Amino acid sequence: MIYFDHNATAPVMREAREAWLNATEHIAGNPSSPHQFGAAANKAMTEAREKLAAFLGCRPAEIIWTSGATEANNMALHHFAQVLDPKAQIWISPIEHPCIMESSSAYFHHRTKFIPVTHAGVIDLDWLTVEMADIRPGLVAVMAANNETGVIQPWREILAICQQYEVPFFCDAVQWIGKMPAKGLGECNFLSGAAHKFGGPRGVGFLKVPGRGHVTPLIVGGKQERGQRAGTENVPIIVSMLAGLEAREKQLARNEHILRGVWRENFERQLLHKLPGAVLVGAGSPRLWNTVSALVPEGSQLRWVSRLDQAGIAVSTGSACTTGKEEPSHVLAAMHFKAADAHRVLRFSSGWETTEADWAALADALGKIHEEMSHTRAHAEA
Ligand code: PLP
Repeated sequence: MIYFDHNATAPVMREAREAWLNATEHIAGNPSSPHQFGAAANKAMTEAREKLAAFLGCRPAEIIWTSGATEANNMALHHFAQVLDPKAQIWISPIEHPCIMESSSAYFHHRTKFIPVTHAGVIDLDWLTVEMADIRPGLVAVMAANNETGVIQPWREILAICQQYEVPFFCDAVQWIGKMPAKGLGECNFLSGAAHKFGGPRGVGFLKVPGRGHVTPLIVGGKQERGQRAGTENVPIIVSMLAGLEAREKQLARNEHILRGVWRENFERQLLHKLPGAVLVGAGSPRLWNTVSALVPEGSQLRWVSRLDQAGIAVSTGSACTTGKEEPSHVLAAMHFKAADAHRVLRFSSGWETTEADWAALADALGKIHEEMSHTRAHAEA
């Protein structure tokens, strides 16, 4: 099988697996325990915190370990719901992951305002600049890169605007971390990440919070994480996440992602050639080197996914976090695609281990399926 669904989750990389096995074997204690076993666990966790802080450019004490990004994102929105004025608005992009969309709606209801998004899938910075000069929201939340389209959001510029008006900025960097250099992300007031999108273990992530002040815990019943997130920390998966991230940051420093971006561009040319009428989503915007979102010219998206699966290639329809029943993507709707078009979207997301030959095999399989579908249609019409 060839795997093109890394934006949903990625296979665990060797460095992360080895670090997990080693930590599971050698770190037996609870980091809160007052003996040598506890001290050893606490030391490993502290080192992991220091490493993550160094990659992000923030202080170790600003990092709270979580079970993943869904929890981190819920925690951030929950916190703002506790501390903001009950009349305060929050501004979010309408292309956020459902865990931000739904927690915003749960905690802020009609006090959530959506920042417009262009047809190319980027938030409208001009809108933000003009609106912010007039009104100050209690929070701005925009992701670093979109999970469905791979479109990169101008998080540095948004951060600068928010800093100018002293509005806290929260960035979900789940799809960015481990695929693009993490440097600078730590300047965002709030920031979330998870390990399993870049080859780290599943079930671990973090929320970076401002150093001063205390974040209202979402999970209570223990003093862990300076009283901000109760529950015994899972030291082996934390250590494993950082071993994985360290290896990815080395690959990024060697610019290994640039070549992978070229493979993706070659694939896109092949796709447009083999599937006349196909449309690349977000084509005019800077995008992650691993993601292609495309509207196929005919046939339902689930039929394509199933035909590719039979051909030994795993792809997705984009919004992978829901099951079975496919709702039209809220991301494509925000980008002004019609619902009928949204039902034609396929997402191909590669990983660090994906080869140029894998991309070529995907293009060939798409071409063959398209030919078969056109053939069947021509027969039916005759
Ligand atoms: N945010 C984004 C942008 C995502 O792509 C995902 C997962 O698909 C999440 C949050 C949720 O992450 P997790 O699976 O770690 O809870």
